[in-house]
Amino acid sequence: MTYDTIVIGAGFAGLRAARELSAAGQTVLLLEGGDRVGGRAFMRPSATSPSLFVEAGGAYISRHHHPRVAAAIDGYGLGTEPAAPATVFRNRLGPGNHDSAFPIPIEEAVEAEAALYQILHDAHRIDAEAGLDRQGLDDLDISLLEYVDALRLPPVTRQLVLSWGWNMMGQPPAEASALWALQFVAAHGHSLLSVVLSIDEVLAEGTSALAAAMAADVPDLRLNAFVNAVRQRSEGVEVIVDGDEVLAAHDVVVATPLNTWRNLDFDPPLPSARAALVAEGHGCRGLKLLIEVKGAPAGISCTGDGVFPTLYDYLATKDGGRILVAFTDSSSIDPADAVAVEAAVHHYLPDVTVVGVDYHDWANDPLFLGPWVSPRVGQFSRVHKALGDKHGAVHFAGSDVSLRFPGYIEGAFETADRVVAEILAASSSPETAKPA
Ligand SMILES: Cc1cc2nc3c(=O)[nH]c(=O)nc-3n(C[C@H](O)[C@H](O)[C@H](O)COP(=O)(O)OP(=O)(O)OC[C@H]3O[C@@H](n4cnc5c(N)ncnc54)[C@H](O)[C@@H]3O)c2cc1C
Repeated sequence: MTYDTIVIGAGFAGLRAARELSAAGQTVLLLEGGDRVGGRAFMRPSATSPSLFVEAGGAYISRHHHPRVAAAIDGYGLGTEPAAPATVFRNRLGPGNHDSAFPIPIEEAVEAEAALYQILHDAHRIDAEAGLDRQGLDDLDISLLEYVDALRLPPVTRQLVLSWGWNMMGQPPAEASALWALQFVAAHGHSLLSVVLSIDEVLAEGTSALAAAMAADVPDLRLNAFVNAVRQRSEGVEVIVDGDEVLAAHDVVVATPLNTWRNLDFDPPLPSARAALVAEGHGCRGLKLLIEVKGAPAGISCTGDGVFPTLYDYLATKDGGRILVAFTDSSSIDPADAVAVEAAVHHYLPDVTVVGVDYHDWANDPLFLGPWVSPRVGQFSRVHKALGDKHGAVHFAGSDVSLRFPGYIEGAFETADRVVAEILAASSSPETAKPA
């Protein structure tokens, strides 16, 4: 049979696209290369405390900033709860190691205000939905470190900005793009604080509950179906699965991570500028580590000049310990090096005992080849909007090609809505309507 649409990848983008196109009356097949749905949203038993479930990928959401996620959660009757509240701040920002609820000392406040104004001013140059390659923003596409140095921030404020930038972008500040950091600010209503505050909730039943609920609304889903090629022919599109199976559709949605496209054989090939960026891949090497410790106070939240730019509370274990979340990147620490992880924790919390470390190696998982999207310096001021452009009858969805919420679950939903609109508009047009 020839499907109306084949969707490749059962993360949140693919699930939503398949569900909506099916609901609109199309025949849809959703192909997932792995043995589960949800993609980079992945709640599973903890490796260190298997009776607890942990989010190894995307977890934090905001009802205010992420309206599609909020509506989906409500639609399935699922709940949200606040992320673990941070009540004990440990800021190792500059000299000394002080506990303080306010992250910068008052003597830096006036200089910090002037610099924050500059950041907001630069962010206001960005239209978060137009594509970063079409707005004359090349001067902002420099390293975050270079950008922050030019702001001449006082030392503690400087460290705070660099630490959060490193956390959010999954690359050391010398390699992350300042333009990308400013895009986050632009997307969150041109508010720096909203970027931090927009990750203050989690799904009470976990992201996998939402993914499972959405999958139940997709009539035709195949797991363990790895797509190798997408070939456009005059009569439709052929999708090659596991090397030899040929499936056919009028339209195809590629909802797989950007860094995996280099292993998908597109015929005809993608346009050259887009193909070059796909071959390079984006530069995110972010690591989310789930570190079980004994002796940490509940609600601890550390930010500063360690190998972990951020380290904060996540869950209580059954025996009175805590699981902490640390963000860093794989070029700064080997997460399998227990001594290095312990030293990085002790940088902020010298008295705790590290029990073990858990993480998913997204960068080396062939279904992902990277964690969340974060470009190298110079990449997205060169090619950005076109990453999500349709290529004949092949459409591109996924958080990595979202213009407003890249790197967020909301971005996956945003792009699914875009491709669904593209496909339904084309199929209802008299010139392109498919034969019944
Ligand atoms: C560690 C980490 C922390 C994060 N934290 C947050 C957060 O707190 N808040 C937030 O909103 N977002 C966060 N994110 C980002 C968010 O999880 C992702 O952006 C989002 O889940 C991506 O959804 P997607 O549908 O675009 O892609 P994915 O979820 O990656 O789905 C793509 C699917 O395609 C499948 N696939 C790949 N190749 C093939 C192939 N050839 N054939 C068939 N199937 C294939 C994959 O198995 C996968 O299931 C985080 C991500 C990570 C990794």
